[in-house]
Amino acid sequence: MKHNNLWAPWRIKYVQGLNEGNECFICHNVGNPQDDADNLVLWRSEKSIVILNRFPYNNGHLLIAPMRHIPDLDQATDEELTEMIKLVRESQKALRLTIKPHGFNVGMNFGRCSGAGLPDHLHIHIVPRWEGDTNFMKVCSDTDVISQSLIELLEQLKQVSIKHNLPRL
Ligand SMILES: [Zn+2]
Repeated sequence: MKHNNLWAPWRIKYVQGLNEGNECFICHNVGNPQDDADNLVLWRSEKSIVILNRFPYNNGHLLIAPMRHIPDLDQATDEELTEMIKLVRESQKALRLTIKPHGFNVGMNFGRCSGAGLPDHLHIHIVPRWEGDTNFMKVCSDTDVISQSLIELLEQLKQVSIKHNLPRL
């Protein structure tokens, strides 16, 4: 079976940035609601936050995290776990209504050796996929283009959220 990995060269800035400081960007975003637009925060629910990944593997890459700085599922409450899974469902709805993915990768990484960029704050990745996107992303690797599309996509996602009353938890 042929295996294609998404190639996301702009992520190198993120990976390099990880070695420059210990600030948890999820906690930073949680604590600064006045900066939600700049921080690409899509939704806040009672116990969780949903953020458009600034260094996406693919267009529309969302991160779902508990508000609390906890590293793994063992330390999450049942309420947090339930809310996060419901937010996976709602995130898929919002993405289908905006950018119409053909599929999704939904996953979690635990520990830096697993590829977790932020190993200390639990989060779920929602990565939209399209037929042929592994080829497309190699062409569309300009970080300025990505940044602009992030702001536009965040606005689209906010608009469908209002129209469709998302997230419904
Ligand atoms: Zn944190």
